[in-house]
Amino acid sequence: MNHNSRWHIIFNVVIIAVIFVGCLAAGFGLSILIFGLTGNPPVFPAYMISSLLGVALFGCIARIISTFVFKGHTQARMHLLNQTVEALGKIARGNFNVSVEIENHDPFSEVAQSVNKMARDLASMETQRQDFISNVSHEIQSPLTSISGFAALLKTDSLTNEQRRHYLDIIETESQRLSKLSDNLLKLSTLEAETMPLTPREFRLDKQIKNAVLMLEPQWSEKNIVIDAQIDKTTINADEELLSQVWINLLHNAIKFTPVCGEINITLSEKERVIECGITDNGIGILKEDQIHIFERFYKVDKSRDRSLGGNGLGLSLCKKIVELHGGTITLESNPDKGTRFIVTLSK
Ligand code: ADP
Repeated sequence: MNHNSRWHIIFNVVIIAVIFVGCLAAGFGLSILIFGLTGNPPVFPAYMISSLLGVALFGCIARIISTFVFKGHTQARMHLLNQTVEALGKIARGNFNVSVEIENHDPFSEVAQSVNKMARDLASMETQRQDFISNVSHEIQSPLTSISGFAALLKTDSLTNEQRRHYLDIIETESQRLSKLSDNLLKLSTLEAETMPLTPREFRLDKQIKNAVLMLEPQWSEKNIVIDAQIDKTTINADEELLSQVWINLLHNAIKFTPVCGEINITLSEKERVIECGITDNGIGILKEDQIHIFERFYKVDKSRDRSLGGNGLGLSLCKKIVELHGGTITLESNPDKGTRFIVTLSK
């Protein structure tokens, strides 16, 4: 029981007590009037008559008050019920901009409150859905514009071989970007629908991370990046294929956002059945205000730079989803111009 309703009950009891005492007093006064006309009866019957008159008066007053109060309550409840039904009708027609006005607090108003909350949640889901569609359309539209533009340029007869190769390279990169986008979208939606259960098995995590580093060798060696790895022998029971995606995405970003001749440090250790993997680069870093959005779908710190680097802002949201499905956490520490460290913790 909350503070307000307690005071409400005390207030009602006091009012009823005052009315009751008032009625007894009025009954007493009435009986004196009657006895003035009829003559005084003996003391005991006189008290009885006076009390009965008081109680009867109280009964009448209570009946009159309750008729008015309950009528008011019933009307208020009917109004609330009508509003709630109307709101549900609007929600069913796809209009989530509804709010039932709640004045009193009783079980009826709790139903109305739930309807208000449902409308707010549905409205926010609808906004997310629309944002998602506009982000996907944008991500598809920009490479397509580029592909069709350069394909048109390729029709020019006077192009040198070098120009032709350059345009073809762009078309190839943009097509790969589109393919990566659809691949990432598919993975994310499957993971989010959670229709694809994890297929865990025991494997050597240290070997998996080393393999990811080797797989990305062409990228880091092209930029003369030094890889420093302190990887302890560690086994884990997890979905091997999905976890591999996490290291590839994190390493890929570290390479992408680290300048030529930079350094990437990888650590893997286990303490009290908690595995921690850190991937640190000395690249461009991420501003504090961007760090809170970094795991959101389609979030890119610098949209134009990311375009040239071929990102679609889905890599980190995929990492987060995979790590969370394994019951782990992924966090980051970053300083602009100094570098970024992503830390993944997983339980054994
Ligand atoms: P993308 O595929 O565009 O790289 P991500 O979801 O992997 O998308 O990353 C989101 C954004 O986070 C990137 O666009 C980039 O701006 C920023 N980011 C990710 N990793 C790093 C990093 N190691 N250093 C600096 N910025 C990073």
